[in-house]
Amino acid sequence: MRLKTRLFMSFLLIVILPILLAFVLYFLIASGRVNGNEETSPLYFTNTIDTLINDTDPEVQELKHWSKAFPDRFLKTDILKEINSSLSSANSFLVVKQGTRVVFDGAPDGMHPRYSRLPVYGKLSESDVMVVKLENQSAMLREVDFGDYKDRYHGQAFVITPTGTVIPGAGKILITYVLWMALILLITAFVIVTLLYNSIIRKVRRMQEATENIRNGNLDFTLKVKGKDEISELAGSIERMKNHLRADAMQKLETEDAQRKFLSNITHDLKTPLTSVIGYSEGLIDGIAPTPDKQMKYLTIIHNKASEMNDLLNELSVFTKIDTDSIPYNFSRVNARGFFDEFAEENEVEFDSQDAIFLYQCDLPDGCEIMIDTSQIKRVLHNLVSNAVKYRRDGIRLKVMLRVSDAGEFIQAEIADNGRGISQDDLPHIFERLFRADKARNTQIKGSGIGLSIVKKIISDHGGQVWATSIEGTGSKFYFLLKKCSDKEEPDEQDSDN
Ligand code: ADP
Repeated sequence: MRLKTRLFMSFLLIVILPILLAFVLYFLIASGRVNGNEETSPLYFTNTIDTLINDTDPEVQELKHWSKAFPDRFLKTDILKEINSSLSSANSFLVVKQGTRVVFDGAPDGMHPRYSRLPVYGKLSESDVMVVKLENQSAMLREVDFGDYKDRYHGQAFVITPTGTVIPGAGKILITYVLWMALILLITAFVIVTLLYNSIIRKVRRMQEATENIRNGNLDFTLKVKGKDEISELAGSIERMKNHLRADAMQKLETEDAQRKFLSNITHDLKTPLTSVIGYSEGLIDGIAPTPDKQMKYLTIIHNKASEMNDLLNELSVFTKIDTDSIPYNFSRVNARGFFDEFAEENEVEFDSQDAIFLYQCDLPDGCEIMIDTSQIKRVLHNLVSNAVKYRRDGIRLKVMLRVSDAGEFIQAEIADNGRGISQDDLPHIFERLFRADKARNTQIKGSGIGLSIVKKIISDHGGQVWATSIEGTGSKFYFLLKKCSDKEEPDEQDSDN
């Protein structure tokens, strides 16, 4: 449930629940189920006289019964005292007159009626209620007549209820109401606070713990918060942020690890030819090669090893330029077919001398032009072809095919080999910096894992794309696209120093 809806519901609950419970309470009190006494009924406020009459009704009815069946009882003080004490629980008392004489006065102190003001016999019917003055307040009076009034005496029994008892009665109801309403408000508040606590505070606490963990660098936790409200969405964002941070941290660790390995590889790859250079030059100095032929052989080895080191250092230099995004490009408009023909020619000769085959096919029309930095695209082709050579299969004659074709707005170059191939697990990663497939890592084949990342960088800086397909044990195919020149393009506009 959305937070807005939940707050709205809570608001309704705060307003409606107490009102509803107040009504229920009203009816419970009215029916005498709370307090077990109708004296506390809310009718007390609305119909005070009737309530007061009702309160004393049982005693009045009993007196009426006596008047018919046991008139003698009105003359027995003990019995009258009993009736009086039961009336006192209804805040009333009994006064009995026999003729003009008051024979019983059950009024508490300070509430005695003025006897002369009591109604005379026969004036008040049994259903009437009269207001009389007591010593210090007014009272309601009901009368029950008894006795053999024709011959001997007129008997009058007065049930008197001081009106001052209305206030204590009302007070009692008020206290009951206030107590119950306080209870109702407490229950409502408790229900709402519990609901809010469960839905908001608990989640906020968990998010607080999660952010504390993140701050302390602990990313190994899962923040799971159920629900579809804004708080849960926020928790979801924190969880995603943490996952992102963790992925970053892992990647950083992997990159650091890869960079360490890269450094140790480069150092190793440089050290091997350097040792040879030192060894052969020392040999020359020590006169180990006495004949010019031998000296020439030593010098050629020294030259080859130095070139190897030079190539490695060049690769390293491009790698650092990739890192700082500062490869210097020198774009020019060139004839695509001419460019690839020249590259193929150089390779055909070299492959021939190594008992390998280099095949070339170009389906481009003559006038097709591309805007490229020729030395950088040569580096791309060189990296791809030298990988094909590096990852050849033992015992199988290496065959590399360069095919260039028209692809609409682009020209497509494909370099296919019959080498060892790349596993489907490794294939998606080969263009990543410092990535070396497990197999390559475990062999003696030298490599730093940056050749293909350089290829990708250069091709994407040319606005093209590069990808590869491979079948392990059969061979690999590398493809790249280069944008053709549109007729309007001027070479100067494309020159850039990246
Ligand atoms: P490396 O210096 O390791 O050759 P690259 O970036 O050039 O680095 O290549 C990355 C990985 O891709 C290599 O380690 C190798 O496993 C794989 N690879 C690249 N080209 C080929 C290929 N033609 N045949 C088989 N595997 C290749």
